[in-house]
Amino acid sequence: MRLSRYFLPILREVPKEAEIVSHRLMLRAGMIRQESAGIYAWLPLGKRVLDKICNVIREEQNRSGAIEIMMPTIQSADLWRESGRYDDYGKEMLRIKDRHEREMLFGPTNEEMLTEIVRAYVKSYKDLPLNLYHIQWKFRDEVRPRFGVMRSREFLMKDAYSVDLDFENAVIAYNRMFVAYLRTFARLGLKAIPMVADTGPIGGNHSHEFIILASTGESEVFCHADYLDMAPPPADIDFRDPAALQDTVNQWTSLYAATEEKHDEAAFDAIPEGSRVSARGIEVGHIFYFGTKYSEPMGAKVTGPDGVERPVHMGSYGIGPSRLVAAIIEASHDENGIIWPEAIAPFKVGVLNLKAGDAATDAACETLYAELTARGVDVLYDDTDERPGSKFATADLIGLPWQVIVGPKGLAAGTVELKRRADGSRETLPLDAVINRILE
Ligand code: ATP
Ligand code: MG
Repeated sequence: MRLSRYFLPILREVPKEAEIVSHRLMLRAGMIRQESAGIYAWLPLGKRVLDKICNVIREEQNRSGAIEIMMPTIQSADLWRESGRYDDYGKEMLRIKDRHEREMLFGPTNEEMLTEIVRAYVKSYKDLPLNLYHIQWKFRDEVRPRFGVMRSREFLMKDAYSVDLDFENAVIAYNRMFVAYLRTFARLGLKAIPMVADTGPIGGNHSHEFIILASTGESEVFCHADYLDMAPPPADIDFRDPAALQDTVNQWTSLYAATEEKHDEAAFDAIPEGSRVSARGIEVGHIFYFGTKYSEPMGAKVTGPDGVERPVHMGSYGIGPSRLVAAIIEASHDENGIIWPEAIAPFKVGVLNLKAGDAATDAACETLYAELTARGVDVLYDDTDERPGSKFATADLIGLPWQVIVGPKGLAAGTVELKRRADGSRETLPLDAVINRILE
């Protein structure tokens, strides 16, 4: 992408309305635009990051055996009356009437709709296990939308729903998602800690919130420090092997970790003092086994091997990709701007032409741009006539992991400068060596 042809509305001023650093940086980097309270348009740079996050999530969901679908945003009130949640949900639900006065709603989640699909098509234990997910916009009329896309009213959610014959199989499905989540967050460069969460009337211990530590987080959390050094499960973990999954889950639930609501002072105090972490955290994902809560009232039943019909056991598994964009920035930035992990950077490389219009720098930049692009690398080529200082500031603000700085002085000696955003390190390299260095 040539910056001169791109749409990157950078703000030089620090926006006053933004209270936390991720919100400020997303506005300054031209990633989002507020359209009304808690409702945002995603501008090109933001959209790129959001898409990359969704793709990592998608790859790990697919690897675990979940299957992607797409359900609508608008749902019928009648569907929600079947589960009894239409009245329970309260003011967070945006209720709409169509031209025929039919009551509709903008979905805050999709348990009812997924259960309806299962009820229509899934009849036998032989059709199970099943896990269907989608990545779709949700609307919740939050009392206090704030912190930009961290707590917005319209937000993107990956929500998966598992369907199984009985509790034992539902636990295997739960563990698959647990492991997939550990891998997903690790690939996004995050240390997300699974913390026991409330199960309400369902009971049991199959509800975990995945939390990353950040001073601006909304929840107070307590955990063992060793979580911060645990290695995520490998890419080749066998999702069809229940024992391997259970081992991983056991390892990740063996140490203390809880949010304020589930905090147990005595258990926390039992941790050696030097290993106690008491901090603030951001919830980036939530997995939950809810058994027959929807399948029973809605009549989603399958015939078991014994010929007896019974309601299916289900769970739901959410991740907020739009919140994640902000959460990743909270976890990875400095005074100059965002520091994207490579896996989700909007562009992996910035090529900075320090003297656009100069025949030598133009030619060198064009070559780098063409060759990197040909190798499948996302490049933002700053071909504008801004001053060098402003180009450096922009590249750092928007967090490009690799920056190739091409100036007339260096080129005269046949070299360019390669800067790494993560640690600010710089190397001077011959022009033809820089591509291999980036691809290493
Ligand atoms: P919270 O406790 O933060 O209000 P929740 O418990 O209501 O979230 P879930 O219903 O578990 O959220 O939704 C799954 C995921 O969707 C959350 O883990 C979070 O990543 C994301 N999410 C939920 N609400 C919002 C929101 N208002 N804005 C952005 N993302 C959200
Ligand atoms: Mg939650």
